[in-house]
Order: sequence, then C-alpha cells, then structure tokens
Amino acid sequence: MSTPKKFQRTLVTSALPYANGEIHLGHLAGAYLPADIFVRFLRMQGRDVLYICGSDEYGVPITLTAEKEGISPKELVDRNYASIKKSFEGFGMSFDNFSQTSREIHTETSQSFFMDLHDQGLLKQKTTEQFFSPSQNRFLADRYIEGTCPKCDTAGARGDQCEKCGSSLDPTELIDPHNVLDNSPLELRETTHWFLPLAEWQPRLEKYSADHPEWKENVRNYCGSWFKDTLADRAATRDLGWGVPVPLPDHEGKVFYVWFEAPIGYISSTREWAADQGDPEAWRKWWQDPDTRLVHFIGKDNIFFHALMFPAMLMAHTEDYIVADNVPANEFLNLEGQKLSTSRNFAVWLPEYLEKFSADPLRYTLARNLPETRDMNFTWEGFLARNNNELGNNFGNLINRVFTFIHKYFEGRVPEWSEAMMTDLDRQALADVQADLEKYSAHMEKFEIKAAMEACFHAGQAGNRYFDESAPFKTRKTDLVRCGHSLGVIVQILRMLCLMLAPVVPFGMEKVWSWLGAETSLWQGGWDEGVKDIPAGRQLGKQEILFPRFEEEQIQAEIDRLKGLLAE
Ligand SMILES: [Zn+2]
Repeated sequence: MSTPKKFQRTLVTSALPYANGEIHLGHLAGAYLPADIFVRFLRMQGRDVLYICGSDEYGVPITLTAEKEGISPKELVDRNYASIKKSFEGFGMSFDNFSQTSREIHTETSQSFFMDLHDQGLLKQKTTEQFFSPSQNRFLADRYIEGTCPKCDTAGARGDQCEKCGSSLDPTELIDPHNVLDNSPLELRETTHWFLPLAEWQPRLEKYSADHPEWKENVRNYCGSWFKDTLADRAATRDLGWGVPVPLPDHEGKVFYVWFEAPIGYISSTREWAADQGDPEAWRKWWQDPDTRLVHFIGKDNIFFHALMFPAMLMAHTEDYIVADNVPANEFLNLEGQKLSTSRNFAVWLPEYLEKFSADPLRYTLARNLPETRDMNFTWEGFLARNNNELGNNFGNLINRVFTFIHKYFEGRVPEWSEAMMTDLDRQALADVQADLEKYSAHMEKFEIKAAMEACFHAGQAGNRYFDESAPFKTRKTDLVRCGHSLGVIVQILRMLCLMLAPVVPFGMEKVWSWLGAETSLWQGGWDEGVKDIPAGRQLGKQEILFPRFEEEQIQAEIDRLKGLLAE
C-alpha cells in the first residue's frame, strides 16, 4: 500500500437530517457525534477544516405530513429546520454551515449539476407506466396509493408494502388501487424520466473502491456486494409537486429524486457558507482542489449513496470535483436492547433529552458506545453509570480535587515542580498519560473514536492512581515542597486529559481549559499549547463541579417511559 496522501485541508460532512421530525439518539450515534468529535479534534490541532451540513427537505414523507397537518410543505420544513438546528446547537454540534435544501442556492446548484450531466448526454431517458390520479390531476408516489394486498387479500395495503403480511409490493400489483387522500380510483399512464446509468461508471467505481483498502469493513463489504452484479439504472427525476424542478422544457410537474439532489446539498451548503464569508468562489477550494480531503460521516443505510452514487455523479461532472477520501459509516444504535422505532415513538428524542439533561453526559456515553463496527445498545442505566462513575468519579473528581487543593494551599498558583525533583513514580505517571495521548491521536486519525476514548479513560485512571500514590493530601503536612511538586505534575496530567476529553465533552473542557489559564483558543490550535508544560507560578481559575451526579429516580423515570411504550 502506498503512503497515505497528505492533504492541506479537510471537508467534513454529516448526512443531511430529513426535515420530517426531530433528531434522536440513533441519528446522533450514526452521522453526527462522530463527525463533530473528529472536526473538533482537527480544529484543536489547528488544521484547516470545514464542517458542512443542512436539512434534507424534499420528498414524499414531507408532503404526506404537511397534508395531514394542513400546512404547506415549506411551512413544515421551515418549522422542523428551526427545531433541528436548535437541538443540534444544544448538543454542541459545531457545523460551519447548516443549510436547507429548499433554499434557492440549492435549487440553482442542483439544477446546474443536472444540466451538466444532461448536456454531456450521460443521462438515459426511459418511459414507464405509473399511477395517475385523475381527481387530482397528478402522478402519485407509492406512499399515496392504497389497495387490496394480492398476497393476503387485506384491504388498505400501501403502494410499497402490506403492513398486514409484510410483503413488499409494487403498486401495480395492488387490487383496486386508489388514492389515499380522497379514495378516488387511479389509472396507469405513461411517464418519462431521466436515469443515471450507473453500470457505465461501474469500472471506475470499482477501481475507486479498490483504491481505498483503508475504508471500514462494513463499507467495503457493502460495496463488494453491489459490485457482484451490474449496477442498475437509478431514476434521477420523478413526478411530484414538492422538489427541485427539472430545468428542461416540457417537464412540468417533474422534480429531482431526493437521492439525486440531497448529496448536492453538501455543495450548496458550502456555497452558502462561502457567500456568507463574502467570498462566493471560496467553495471551489473545498470541492475542486485535490489537496482537500473529503470525508462523509453517515449511517450504514446511506453507504450506497455516498460510496457509489454521489462519487459517480462527481466523477461524471465536467468540472474536476474531488470525491470522498473516506466514508466512515456507522452501524445502528439500539435502545434498551430493542430496535429504535420512530413510528412507535420508541426513541429518545434530543429536544426532550435537552430539557432534562446537559449535552456532555450524552456525548460522552454515546462516544464510549459508538456503533463503529457493529450495532450497539444504549441503556439509561448505562448512561447513569457512565456519568457517575466515569465522567464524575474518574475525571470530574480528579480535576476538582487538584484545583481545590491548589487554591486552598498554594494560592491558586501552579506550585514549584521541576525535573530535578522527579521520582520514578512521577516519570512513570507522565509517561503513561503521554503514551495514552499518542494512542488517542492515532485512533482519532483513523475515526476510531471508541478506541481513542478507551485511551482517554485509561489516562484518567493513571491520573487518579498517581494522585493516590503521590498522596499530596499526606505530604501537605510532612513535606510541602514535595506536595507542591506532585500537584505540579498532576496539572500536566490534567492539561493532557483536557485535550483528550475536549472534542467529546466540549462544554466542560472549555471551562477546564480556561481554569488552566490557557492563552490560545482551544478550537484554534489549542493542542500545541496543551502538549507543552504549564510552568510553575501560573495563576489558575476557580473550578466548579463539572459533571453533577444523576440520581436513580431521574433515570428510572426515563426507563419507565420506554417500558410504557413497549407495553402499548
Ligand atoms: Zn398482505
């Protein structure tokens, strides 16, 4: 394998959340938290990084919800966008831009992208038969069609699936198909659409995939399984009233399929960011310069679109776009041993969580439990234990004890500590934590956040052990110089712990960073300062409790709520 390319800058994206509801824990563990942690790690190291996202706002589920609520699709997505944005902010997601696909800049960007492929003659036109509702004078998406199931003879089967017997269906198989909204009968009519002939790009895609043996196993396996067959044509356009209109004559009522335009949303959002910077062309550096590394964070249900489809579209464009250098896809997060289900409301929703708890404990618990290589499980008991035992006892107490001690006995200044006074115990403790910091960085670079957090936890244990063994609470009475030296050593351990914890629990560590009297901004190259010794004599800030304990009753209420949902 050749040496990995050194890039000048990194463009990170998280899958665009669908604006049909709120964010839940499964979303956070999939595409959002890992990306935010990675981005914060890079920013801390002073590396050039841009973090882009936005909400995905077109498609049938949006129109269905809007019709049910009696509002326009635009009203619905604007409301949900505002709510999602607020939740993300509360959770500490540090996007550089969070846009909407229903904005003009996205219409413009995706239409021009489509026309580029169209004008090269790369898209294929095909005519198919689809259900048309004469009463509403429009073609209907599968979800708007109901009829009797041909397999189990039950009425009310949906156009794509029968809920009764679980068969997945094509709407043309339904007996007596009709419009869900007004029960009127339907007729089959011909409609013409544009398709992306993926098979024509298959050799290039297979080479692209083969050139990235470092990708996660789940991503490589998915790609490998698709390459066993010839890739099918994918429709790029459809008949629907809510979407980006196809910019061609005689295409009234035709819009882009969401999967076609949504990934282009990353580009639109970057363009919007560039315009906001007052440098509208600045987006090109992030999308068209081969010195930029593009990384898509997604859940496993999105691998096809980010590892095959979108790269194919980018490769096909006449301008030289870069394609993803990595697609770190996560598996799924279960809840209390069960699959999350938004239709049964069996989920933990971020806005509700944030009403009761702060962001750091959830970020920490999820980071320790990320479904990086297999499905993982979130339990409220586990959340309690991670907060009380790890954040509280392992990290919070150590930080609190050291600051309290220094303020009480050394006037809040880092006590005298020096190389000359180093014992084997001191050296060993510093070397252990230093080694953990190096392991941490190496794992972070490879998107192995769970392993990085394991190193961080280990460093916390080493710090506690050193505190107990060097025993400044004893030497205070017998040897104040030795006591001060030990505390000076622990301050060095704390600054390294602060670096390791910061991307995961940013709210708490921004405080610790300032208590340590750091001069640089943590997120603008703080790492360089954090790996250097904090000299004796520096004035430290006053600490407060970082990670309050949770009580059993608080957690039990959440468990009971979920149990109630399961019982229903
Ligand atoms: Zn059925």
